[in-house]
Amino acid sequence: MSFFNSIGRSMTRAPRPPRRSTTPTSSSFPSNENLPGAVVTHTSVPRPLYLSSPFVDAALVKGNFKHIVMLPKYADVMEWVAVNIFDFYQNLNQFYGVLAECCTQQSCPTMAAGPTLSYTWVNQDRKSVQLPAPTYIDYVMTWVQNSLDDETVFPTKSGREFSQNFPSTVKHIYRQLLRVFAHLYHAHYPQILHLRSEPHFNSLFAHFLAFGKEYELLDIKDVKGQSNSPVGVGALLEKWKEMGILES
Ligand SMILES: [Zn+2]
Repeated sequence: MSFFNSIGRSMTRAPRPPRRSTTPTSSSFPSNENLPGAVVTHTSVPRPLYLSSPFVDAALVKGNFKHIVMLPKYADVMEWVAVNIFDFYQNLNQFYGVLAECCTQQSCPTMAAGPTLSYTWVNQDRKSVQLPAPTYIDYVMTWVQNSLDDETVFPTKSGREFSQNFPSTVKHIYRQLLRVFAHLYHAHYPQILHLRSEPHFNSLFAHFLAFGKEYELLDIKDVKGQSNSPVGVGALLEKWKEMGILES
């Protein structure tokens, strides 16, 4: 029995807008040094802006995300996960659409997410390869969009059931969306600040992390990375836990 059948159309997913190729882009972005309040250090590894005050706690949603992620009464858990993944994807895709012009093969020759970390893509020959970040992200977003459009993966019509593979598919999607967040925080936070979008972006990401924890869609080691190649946003997760934004 699907969630849609049980409570009607109130939670029906919105129509899908065109993919990000048609998203308007903004003009060129300044460097960190033009940002109000940004402390520019010239040591080898400056503290990332996203970990710095006041940006680290800029949010649209103040307080803890625990209640937002709770399963609504009478909702089917798979449907709830599907609707939320759809929203996370849409929101992230819109952010990326705006940031895409500063994420190029030249600016981002690898899918970097930390000072010593670049994600590799597993190609059709099952080989791990380095890809420029825009190519990597395009592969992820296209694959997620196709999955969302696939009735056998994300059923929307009445009478259709979620397949047994659904939990593993959504974990895979979640892991790849996390990598897109991780790259944008690591490589494009100055542009996010320039757009004054950090409250939106932080709230989206905190919601994503809280939801992933609640429904066990995220592996903590994927958020933190390895000790010799940490994920930049792993430190953000710790900071938000300290601040009570996320549950510890
Ligand atoms: Zn980039």
